[in-house]
Amino acid sequence: RRPGTLAVLLRRYGPGLKLVLSQDVTERERHEAMRRDFVANVSHEIRTPLTALSGFVETMQSLPLSEPDRARVLAMMAQQTSRMRTLVDDLLTLARLEGSPRPAPDHWFALDPLLEQVQVRTQSLSGARHALRFPEVSGIELAGSEGEIDSALTNLLSNAVRYTPEGGQISVTLRRLDDGRLEVAVRDSGIGIAREHLPRLAERFYRVDGSRSRDTGGTGLGLSIVKHVAQRHGGELGIDSAPGKGSTFRLLLPPARVRQAQGALDQRAE
Ligand code: ADP
Repeated sequence: RRPGTLAVLLRRYGPGLKLVLSQDVTERERHEAMRRDFVANVSHEIRTPLTALSGFVETMQSLPLSEPDRARVLAMMAQQTSRMRTLVDDLLTLARLEGSPRPAPDHWFALDPLLEQVQVRTQSLSGARHALRFPEVSGIELAGSEGEIDSALTNLLSNAVRYTPEGGQISVTLRRLDDGRLEVAVRDSGIGIAREHLPRLAERFYRVDGSRSRDTGGTGLGLSIVKHVAQRHGGELGIDSAPGKGSTFRLLLPPARVRQAQGALDQRAE
């Protein structure tokens, strides 16, 4: 009987091949475990607002409520509904990012108007509770997906607002590094993050403080989205932080995706 291919390979390459095969199995098991974790997390995240909502519905059905109480319950129901909507939106964004071919398309767009929109949104989220500083006109153009870069910056700034107590500072700066990359840094003077959490921060649903994240409308998916956007643009996400001192999130984009009018950026570098 002719030995099977696997037997021949095993005889020839012996232990090395066995190792490769078992690594393959371990990798598959790891993926399967991650998928199960993800489904369990999503179910839990959806279930929490659903449970609250059905509680409110029951209350409205079974108790005669005064008009102000009715209005209060309805407001809480609206809050839970909006929480579910944000979660589903973030899940869809993430699924789209993971499912799209890499790299991101390289259509050129101007960064300044995008930053202006992000600034307006940040002002409205902050409600004048923070000192905000945004770069002035930079003349920079980026090649990539405008929607994705918008989503990455909006997520970083919404985090900065949510994790910075009233009176704190939040800034966005642009800098061209020596190697030609563009650094978009989002800095806050907020609560900061202990070192041991940093490597896991961009994992889906990873949170340092679950209740603070949820109470402020967080889904636990924001930094995952930012990391995917950075990678799809050939860049990366850098994080520096210290508890009580604040955090800096750096979106680093490769030179091939950045162009600008000569000298425009040098005037605004810190
Ligand atoms: P979330 O929706 O929970 O904010 P993210 O993926 O955006 O999810 O962030 C993951 C976790 O990282 C957050 O739960 C929070 O603990 C921490 N984090 C993110 N941004 C900041 C920040 N600017 N300052 C302090 N902690 C932050």
